[in-house]
Amino acid sequence: MAVGEEEVEIVTARTDKRQYRRVVLKNSLEVLLISDPDTDKCAASMAVSVGSFSDPEGLEGLAHFLEHMLFYASEKYPLEDSYSKFITEHGGSTNAFTASEHTNYYFDVNVDSFEEALDRLFFIKPLMSADATMREIKAVDSENQKNLLSDAWRMNQLQKHLSEKSHPYHKFGTGNWDTLGVRPGARGLDTRDELIKFYKEHYSANLMHLVVYSKENLDKIESMVEEKFCDIRNTDKDCLHITGQPCTSEHLQILVKTVPIKQGHKLRVTWPITPEIRHYKEGPSRYLGHLIGHEGEGSLFYVLKTLGRSS
Ligand SMILES: [Zn+2]
Repeated sequence: MAVGEEEVEIVTARTDKRQYRRVVLKNSLEVLLISDPDTDKCAASMAVSVGSFSDPEGLEGLAHFLEHMLFYASEKYPLEDSYSKFITEHGGSTNAFTASEHTNYYFDVNVDSFEEALDRLFFIKPLMSADATMREIKAVDSENQKNLLSDAWRMNQLQKHLSEKSHPYHKFGTGNWDTLGVRPGARGLDTRDELIKFYKEHYSANLMHLVVYSKENLDKIESMVEEKFCDIRNTDKDCLHITGQPCTSEHLQILVKTVPIKQGHKLRVTWPITPEIRHYKEGPSRYLGHLIGHEGEGSLFYVLKTLGRSS
């Protein structure tokens, strides 16, 4: 049985025939189960509360690199890349992303292949072989090379670069050959050892949240989830707590002019706001975004556009 269980009171439209249940497994993994008898696809998403803000000093991109490595193989399914292959061969798709404080892995797949797809998720005993490690550093590097040609990525990194140096926001989160291969090597570090250390330290079940969406009834999904995920290790790891601000007065009220790669003009105005996670239901910044983004007569957009035309 799960440690805690409750039928969640989720306000859904009357037409929503899906059923929902929140459970917490013995290892503190929190799971939202969704049963939808009408679906022809099943899906799952695992969020881990660790991201690039937790990269060790001098190993920028390690969290992102680990995200790549987990896809490769596990002790139970050692054939490289067999997880992704299985998903695509059974009508699904899969991907993952590393954010500053979260890493998310997700997939969808045909109903009849769902149980095996869940079984292939790699959170229990991933294999991180030495040769796969070297190859995947190169994959991360080429991802970064591609980002270097994107104005959006360049602007994001520039903004990080102009923030407070002691704040993790300042760091480079993607990683490349230099930060994951050359520099750690020069300090005598083995990137694979660091990767395994990072995995053991941060991938604790109490920091994971799983959502499972299936055609089966809730009891069946619950026992399936329990069987497959109760062995994820729990070390009761604390979430990263960040103090300080990424922008102090010296980082604000500055104007930066950049030459883009693609032709065109863009005005980007940014300012920090307090986190609004506790107000997610109301979404206060959406109201502000709507007002500031309004394009009708009298709006900021309208004034700027009029000024642009007359110059
Ligand atoms: Zn990537």
